[in-house]
Amino acid sequence: MTHFPHPSWVEVNLEQFRKNIEVIRSYIGTRLFCLVVKANAYGHGLCPIGIAAELAGVDYLAVAHLQEGILLRQAKVRIPILVLGAIHEDQIDDLINFNLEFSISSQFKADLVASKCRPKRQKVRVHLEVDTGMQRTGVRPQTAISLFSHLEATGCFDVVGIYSHLATADLPNDPFAMTQIEIFKNLVENPIFQKKPIIKHLANSGGICHYNDSMFDMVRPSFATFGYPFKTAHLPLQELKPCLSVKSKISYVKIVDEGVGISYGHSYKTKHRIKVATIPIGYGDGYRRSLSNKASILLHGEKVPVVGTICMDQFMINAHNLPVHVGDEVVLLGKQHSGEILLQEFADLCETSPYEILCGFSDRLPRIYL
Ligand SMILES: *Cc1c(COP(=O)(O)O)cnc(C)c1O
Repeated sequence: MTHFPHPSWVEVNLEQFRKNIEVIRSYIGTRLFCLVVKANAYGHGLCPIGIAAELAGVDYLAVAHLQEGILLRQAKVRIPILVLGAIHEDQIDDLINFNLEFSISSQFKADLVASKCRPKRQKVRVHLEVDTGMQRTGVRPQTAISLFSHLEATGCFDVVGIYSHLATADLPNDPFAMTQIEIFKNLVENPIFQKKPIIKHLANSGGICHYNDSMFDMVRPSFATFGYPFKTAHLPLQELKPCLSVKSKISYVKIVDEGVGISYGHSYKTKHRIKVATIPIGYGDGYRRSLSNKASILLHGEKVPVVGTICMDQFMINAHNLPVHVGDEVVLLGKQHSGEILLQEFADLCETSPYEILCGFSDRLPRIYL
């Protein structure tokens, strides 16, 4: 991929990404590995990550929406792609034409699909989605068997999978997660699901990190694969390391006198004469405004503080006594020399989850792959 020169970027280390895939692969054994690449692969870049995952031997991809699946198919990804989100009537033709698998979570949706594909005389590959306690989408376990029989009877469906989603698996030993696993296990052990091979899948990152019995036939860990195992994750998964960094280059440097206000609203006033440098990235890129006067970035491996309110396209730092020149590289997330800005610190300052930070880096930042 080529980009016009831009002074700020997201860097993705594909070698580390492939190492993470290896770590998970050896942990899950012979189970299938489904990588969820929704929301621009958690900010890492949908198609480059989809292609790299396929080459690294991932078995399945999953996305939230039809459009994400189409982009992957147009990028020539050939492995199965499961669209997780509930489908809409006007998407059914494209789901079929782009060879995407999708979720069936009600008889209503099943009948819509059947009415569209009967004339095509084509079987569609679907996964039956069961709600074991997330209250988002999915049929209740009590109706899953009758819906499955209905799907088989219409003759339009090849039910290749049955799955559910864990609501609280980011915590170890969570009673609700254990209940969900138990409900799912009891359901999929029903003889009706043993007559032909059906992929049973439940575990997200929290599942594989904390609950071995949630792994079934396929796992869907995404956050962990991008290098963020939970601190409480089983030991081998602590090998997972982040592969994404956010970097920029100093665009302007000046000396500011004592008692001077900096940026919108003058939310910062200099306590003495300081060296101020400007960084050309802002909340329009996903470097959030709530980091104003709170975050630090790395300059020559040292942490230096953000001063003043973060603007849409730029913000300022107090460069202290460090040498600083226009063009010097700075790191907003990730490592520089012996310094590191962790995703969790970043998210804590923004009072949100690290997931939201990752998928918040906008398209304006080019993705550079190492
Ligand atoms: C997003 C998602 C995942 C991946 O979750 P992680 O916590 O990133 O592992 C798995 N399954 C479903 C249904 C999802 O929506």
